[in-house]
Amino acid sequence: MNIVLLGAAGAGKGTQAAKLVETLGLTHISTGDIFRKNVSEGTPLGLEAKRYMDAGQLVPDGVVIRMVKDRLAQPDCANGFMLDGFPRTLPQAEALDVALDSLGATLDAVVAIEVPRDVLMGRLTARRQCRGCGRIYNVMGEMPADEGVCDGCGGEVYQRDDDTVEAATKRLDDYAAVTSQLVPYYQSRGLLKTIDGNRAVDAVFVDTLAALGR
Ligand code: AMP
Repeated sequence: MNIVLLGAAGAGKGTQAAKLVETLGLTHISTGDIFRKNVSEGTPLGLEAKRYMDAGQLVPDGVVIRMVKDRLAQPDCANGFMLDGFPRTLPQAEALDVALDSLGATLDAVVAIEVPRDVLMGRLTARRQCRGCGRIYNVMGEMPADEGVCDGCGGEVYQRDDDTVEAATKRLDDYAAVTSQLVPYYQSRGLLKTIDGNRAVDAVFVDTLAALGR
């Protein structure tokens, strides 16, 4: 099964993706996580992406598309994948179609997690993340037992530069103006499954599995 997960920053894509890939046995491809890994390793790709990411801006399509095409061609994607954070623009969606065609693959479903903007803003600015394993925490909810130290891997728990109020505003504006165009794009092909994401994590998960026929 090949799935795209759509949703604004803070909609819970990362959390749901982790649960879904485990349950469905899919390879998880998060473009944000790939960029963050490259930034922390100081690779040329990371250096290029960082200036856009820190400002809450989208990395240019050409850079992201090249990276995702390479990733999809790897053997672990052949048994099913979940794209999280890609595509985010129409050119990215079109490039994905071309890339899948050339691999002889198709998309089975596009899950769009919807959450009101004021809720997203609150979630983003409260979010903290482990630099090591990517685990998500929240200053209004679950935080590590030891301040600043991940319960899971002992990595540093920090606020992402793109979760400040200014960067979060820019990311939500971009989603409304650009990424939301993907909803009619996939709806017209009968692939879109819309999920109410303004609920508890497990309720969203159960609904998503049901929408996928599981
Ligand atoms: P995310 O963790 O998905 O919110 O991504 C974090 C940041 O990585 C975004 O704010 C963008 O700067 C960059 N990024 C991730 N995926 C994409 C994409 N598909 N297109 C452009 N930029 C992206």
